[in-house]
Amino acid sequence: MRHGFTKHNKNGVVFLSVPSFDETGLCESCFSTRLGGVSKAPLDSMNLGFNRGDDRLSVMENHDLLGKAAGLPLNRLVAFSQIHENGVCVATSDDAGEAFLSEKREFDSVITATPELPVATYHADCVPVFLLDPVRRVCGVAHAGWRGTALKTPARAVSEMVSRFGCDASDILAAIGPSIGSCCFETHSDVPDAMLSSFGDGAKPFIESLENGKFRVSLPGLNTLSLLECGIHDENITLSDECTCCKSDLYWSHRKTGGIRGTMAAIIMLKEGV
Ligand SMILES: [Zn+2]
Repeated sequence: MRHGFTKHNKNGVVFLSVPSFDETGLCESCFSTRLGGVSKAPLDSMNLGFNRGDDRLSVMENHDLLGKAAGLPLNRLVAFSQIHENGVCVATSDDAGEAFLSEKREFDSVITATPELPVATYHADCVPVFLLDPVRRVCGVAHAGWRGTALKTPARAVSEMVSRFGCDASDILAAIGPSIGSCCFETHSDVPDAMLSSFGDGAKPFIESLENGKFRVSLPGLNTLSLLECGIHDENITLSDECTCCKSDLYWSHRKTGGIRGTMAAIIMLKEGV
């Protein structure tokens, strides 16, 4: 397991990339923060969500600023409505620009083998999982809140990479970005119950019982377990180790803000001609 993403600051636009992905030279990976955009309070300033009550032109400009900073053609961005399920989109050039449609289709993960086609999922505490097969040259991102974690949504994206593109899970690099940590994710019994029924006893190390009758659950830990279960090697997994709720000055956190918040994007794109 590797730890830590790389932080970049280009003209005040702060974003992260995955070091093990950067080292391949095959793709651009980007996780945005709340810094460097033009949105006004309380969505200041880098809000990438069109569904947060923000001015649409501000959200468009934020995509433009992030794209310029990260070297991504975000006018072609492929992203969908997320519904906490496990549907996977296999994106092609036909899907370019889906992120800007008012009626988006619904998928919680997206994979692609098409170069120069950035694909994204949106986040504000929910776990972002980045995937890259440097052998078959397929990449993707997945969105997993607690329901998606129990449904093993990122593992479904991995199985689509295997079945559609002939990927071997042992070649796949994975990375878990900033998301709510067990430090801040206090829940009722519904969450641990869902994890135990999905993962069995394997979930137990990631659930802590509290004296107040509630629980703390590690969604990054459970998603890591799920990636290992589907055959991804431990040394090919990178964890950011950052909690969006603890670091709410840098990241959007749904829980910290009571839902009055902007949205971050986990984006990946294969480069052309490498
Ligand atoms: Zn925390």
